[in-house]
Amino acid sequence: MPENSGKILIVEDERDVADLIGFNLERAGYEVILAHDGLTGQDAALRERPDLVILDLMLPGKDGYSVFKELRRDSRTAHTPVLMLTARAQTEDRIKGLESGADDYLTKPFSPKELVLRVNAIMRRVEPVPGAVEVTVGPFRLDKNNMNFYLSDERIDLTSTEFKLLLFLVERPDTALDRNDILRTVWGYSDEVHSRTLDTHMKRLRNKLGESSNLVETVRGIGYRLNVS
Ligand code: CA
Repeated sequence: MPENSGKILIVEDERDVADLIGFNLERAGYEVILAHDGLTGQDAALRERPDLVILDLMLPGKDGYSVFKELRRDSRTAHTPVLMLTARAQTEDRIKGLESGADDYLTKPFSPKELVLRVNAIMRRVEPVPGAVEVTVGPFRLDKNNMNFYLSDERIDLTSTEFKLLLFLVERPDTALDRNDILRTVWGYSDEVHSRTLDTHMKRLRNKLGESSNLVETVRGIGYRLNVS
């Protein structure tokens, strides 16, 4: 019996790739929706409200970046995790994917097994957490089950990845946290490329923290520390 659940939208114009991904995700327990061009994918995301979107960047009609930007802009999909697919040769795409704030990305060709692992990691981090519901540290209050974040009692919108990242810091205040530990917990694995993913997400998170961003300190050679005492 599959242990996973959730609805995943695959936006990919190469039908054999889309079918292969879809087959493997269904076998892992997910419900799968397919779209074969950018505009159809965008419409499907807004209409179906999937739990995760797998978005190829090179798409006919409307490219993956434009779709991604629209999804982030619309309140219905602003927090939906997005895993981007890029071609190996497109280094520029990969960089842009990281900078744009996608939750994760995979470079083609990839193994279906790797993709399912990545999807599992992302889906895990948006699941409600049993036990203590709220964590309060300094000006930060995090409601784990609803993934709501309050900064000095003001509700601030975070993506699921930003939330998980902040939660990791808030649950370990005044401690220098190793970047590999952060990557392993928040993204489910750690490697050199994803080191950059961490930094771009941290940059975006800090922007949302306003003046409180100075509580998040970069610890050279190690990672980050949340200073609250
Ligand atoms: Ca494509």
